[in-house]
Amino acid sequence: MLFFLTCSVAAQSEPRDHLIIGLYENPPKVYRDQTQRPAGLFVELIEAIARDQGWTLDYHDCEWSACLDALETGAIDLMPDVAATDDRRGRFAFHQVPVTQAWSQLYRPAHLDLLTLDDLRGLRISVLRDSVQQSWFKSRPELGVDLVPVASMLEGFIAIESGDADAAATNNFFGARFASTYGLAEAAITFDQQSLHFAAPLTAAPDLLTTIDSTLLEWKAQRDSPFFKALERALVPEPVVTMPHWVAPLTIALLLIVGLLVGFSAVLRWRVKVRTHALEHSRQQLEHVLDSSTAVLYQACSDTLKPFWVSPNVSRLFRLAPADVCAEGLWEMQILEDDRSKRRRVANELIATGQVAIDYRIVDGAGKVRHLRDEMRTLALDDGRTEVIGTWSDLTSDYEQREQISYLTSHDRLTHLANRTFLREHLNTALGHAKVGDRGGMVLLIDLDRFGAINETMGMAIGDQLLAALARRIMAKVAPTDLVARSGNDEFCILMGASDSADMNARLCQGLLETIAAPIQLDSHQLSVTASIGLACFPAHGETASEVMAAAELALQQARKDGGNAWTGYQPEMGTVTSERMYLEQDLNKALDEDQFLLFFQPKYALDESRLIGFESLIRWQHPQRGLIMPGTFIPFAEQTGQIRKIDLWVLNESCRQLAQWRDAGLDMPRLSVNLSASEFRSEALAQTIGAVIDKFTISPDRLELEITETTLMEAPDQAATVMVDLAKLGVHLSMDDFGTGYSNLAQLLALPLNQLKIDQSLLANIHNSTQKQSVLRAIIALARALDMELVAEGIETPSQLKFLRESGCPLGQGYLLGRPMSSAQAKRLLRKRRPSGM
Ligand code: C2E
Ligand code: MG
Ligand code: MG
Repeated sequence: MLFFLTCSVAAQSEPRDHLIIGLYENPPKVYRDQTQRPAGLFVELIEAIARDQGWTLDYHDCEWSACLDALETGAIDLMPDVAATDDRRGRFAFHQVPVTQAWSQLYRPAHLDLLTLDDLRGLRISVLRDSVQQSWFKSRPELGVDLVPVASMLEGFIAIESGDADAAATNNFFGARFASTYGLAEAAITFDQQSLHFAAPLTAAPDLLTTIDSTLLEWKAQRDSPFFKALERALVPEPVVTMPHWVAPLTIALLLIVGLLVGFSAVLRWRVKVRTHALEHSRQQLEHVLDSSTAVLYQACSDTLKPFWVSPNVSRLFRLAPADVCAEGLWEMQILEDDRSKRRRVANELIATGQVAIDYRIVDGAGKVRHLRDEMRTLALDDGRTEVIGTWSDLTSDYEQREQISYLTSHDRLTHLANRTFLREHLNTALGHAKVGDRGGMVLLIDLDRFGAINETMGMAIGDQLLAALARRIMAKVAPTDLVARSGNDEFCILMGASDSADMNARLCQGLLETIAAPIQLDSHQLSVTASIGLACFPAHGETASEVMAAAELALQQARKDGGNAWTGYQPEMGTVTSERMYLEQDLNKALDEDQFLLFFQPKYALDESRLIGFESLIRWQHPQRGLIMPGTFIPFAEQTGQIRKIDLWVLNESCRQLAQWRDAGLDMPRLSVNLSASEFRSEALAQTIGAVIDKFTISPDRLELEITETTLMEAPDQAATVMVDLAKLGVHLSMDDFGTGYSNLAQLLALPLNQLKIDQSLLANIHNSTQKQSVLRAIIALARALDMELVAEGIETPSQLKFLRESGCPLGQGYLLGRPMSSAQAKRLLRKRRPSGM
């Protein structure tokens, strides 16, 4: 207030350069536009004048009557759009030249006809408080009008809409602009034409008003002056968007709802983003797991087993695109023809049992044959259907390794021919066929004459080359179905079907002798060797492999006796096979009765610390005439005659007796191994027999270890497995002897309850000259470790073999280097030495 007074006092003396303009809502003459800027005819005019005069303007917002009061007190300097009525001239100062003319107009709703002033009687008429319309009606009480004063002209129209007034009186400018918005029409009643001015306080400096007058005069004389431009805009104004009163709250409500929705959707978006991120993370993890996995995961239909989804690593593992694998019939096509029916056959089993695993071969995308394990499981879905989920694991390298081990252990590395074990197995099979009436066969033993002389004069390397070349020549001479083996150092053996006549045999053997005798060029040497051949037929000359081989051996000896480069067929008069057997049989019976057998003990060691971990019992026969006979000579015969059962029982009893003695002498003997022959494993009573012996000597079963050869197991694997399970239950240790010499089904072998593998000594012989042997040994070491089995290397003779084994991680060993088989007295001394001090 103080500020206003100060302003008004200053205004009397000198022209004002800062004016406060009263601003109220009276569009289109005075109002604030949508951007809240002052607008309208009067505002435009005073702003144009102010620009001309260098005045600055401020606006004071007020309602009409409040504005008039403020003008009167001098709180504002100018009030636009004021009709210069007589009574106002007493309150305010006006300039002379009217800005424009206006009149009062009555507005009515569409249903109300208003033609004359008489029609207004009894009506409620809204008027702006303190307006000329209010004054005009007040001065005419005879009209019988009921006035409804309102604060703004807009409220006058709203009063009709809300039913508070029947009609409205307002100025024609405002009505022309807004009546239609409120559904109102002009009535045929106008009154009180007025000149409209800027009003100033009575105390206003006179030159303020004269400046306005002179400017107006000047501008009204020019068609394109600011006056006419402003008037034009006021008469044809930009449409002012006005809204029904309910629009604002509705808009606010809508805005609130929109705001809420936007907020809600932002929260949702954020949560979706977090979830998406987590899902993406899980997806990446899953993808990584699937991709780095060595198995392909797939889903398939339960009836056809056709895959419909496969993990992407199928392209890395099997070189096949996932989409291709799922294409109709493609997976089936990849499976090798011979194996296809395998997968089809398991469909029913899968439904019945819920899970199935089969191995089969496929051709991968690069054309390579791969061995694969297919493990399938059924999955019941919520909708009642069943689906198959499965994995394909690549077993190719396992198979290749097994095949390599099998090949190496069944073939001779120098000539690549079958070895003796392989030959014996095939001979057994052929004998089996011959027994059931199939065609018989024959065995040709080919021994090189004086081969030792070649080795001694030309060196082992030339000797080896010669053997390899002869092997190729012999192979070329026989049919692909015949088996050629290297059965000894300089001995070959052919196993073939029986021939039709003695003539044919003669031609065959003669042809072989000539082939062998033809000169061979090796490096700069031309060599010639001759051979002797012994021929035996089966089943005529023998019913077991040993008998047939012995017959061939006898025939061979005869050919040698004939001077070599000759062949001989077995003749019954050579008949010493039987008599040799009879002689051995009788002597063996006596040996048991007369206590001619001895046990020797060979120590076994932990290789890393050279710690004694046990002994192996090895039998010897102290023959009264022949001296000490090694088991290799009599055990095979004892096996054929059945005497082995007695011998084995004797060894078992003696070994347990020895264990008990050592124990009673306070010597700690961790374990004693006993070799058992194949025939024991055909007797279901074995576990019972062994249990009885253990009980007899009251020894702990885990001190006893039974060694079984790989070939033993493979002769009757199912029977052997049953007996072994019983033995394992008894608590004794089971060891597989001579591992690596048999031609065995590795998976079948390893399913047995074995505690130990003993690598055959042939694999260790000449290890430093054979990288193949080295890799086989390493593979076996890795295999034993993976299966958590003890592993013993047999036949360690040299420090370099020991070094190799230690470096390759072979845990246990036995051999002449570490300790030869020894008498029980020597073994006792060795045990004493290792006895901890204080015992
Ligand atoms: P095996 O069970 O593999 O026994 C190991 C054989 O290799 C023993 O021959 C042993 O003296 C020999 N040996 C140990 N270290 C070395 C070495 O560093 N270099 C070489 N060259 N040989 C070594 P042995 O005592 O002549 O026995 C031969 C086979 O006779 C045994 O092989 C086993 O299969 C069988 N055998 C021995 N005793 C018995 C027994 O009481 N009962 C049965 N059924 N068979 C037995
Ligand atoms: Mg053994
Ligand atoms: Mg052995």
